[in-house]
Amino acid sequence: MQNQILSCQCGKVQLSLKGKEMASADCGCSSCQKAGAKMQALDGAPTILNSHGATHFELYRKDYINCEKGAEHLAQFRLKEDSPTRRIIATCCNTPMFLDFGPGHWASVYGILWPAGTVTSKRAKSFSVGFMAKLLWAWAKMGFKSPKITFVDRQIEL
Ligand SMILES: [Zn+2]
Ligand SMILES: [Zn+2]
Repeated sequence: MQNQILSCQCGKVQLSLKGKEMASADCGCSSCQKAGAKMQALDGAPTILNSHGATHFELYRKDYINCEKGAEHLAQFRLKEDSPTRRIIATCCNTPMFLDFGPGHWASVYGILWPAGTVTSKRAKSFSVGFMAKLLWAWAKMGFKSPKITFVDRQIEL
């Protein structure tokens, strides 16, 4: 299967995604709302919260996500210092790129990176039992390994 290439708004950062998404989801949790509000308030940042205050994500295996170029522009921030979740932003143009939940084997890529209308909330499922089963099954197929995303190491505060 061909890799998909996703860019930040200005094109300096490119991510490649291998294969198909594991799931699509709209997250309306308080962390995503808080982080979304902070990120979209940055200079020139795209709007990531939808009209319901939710954030759309496409979930991919961590080892299927790569940075093709511009890794030096990527930085992470955490809502709390000890939070297992980091959100990765392309600092060249303040585009949120993906969310990395430390212990998990997947990363959640921000839906705004796809051209408008190609990933929509319509096919998003809530975090149901079936959804979690799908994640677990995908993890089992990986031998319960949790790959790490290692191309981001710069920390920023928002
Ligand atoms: Zn950029
Ligand atoms: Zn969330």
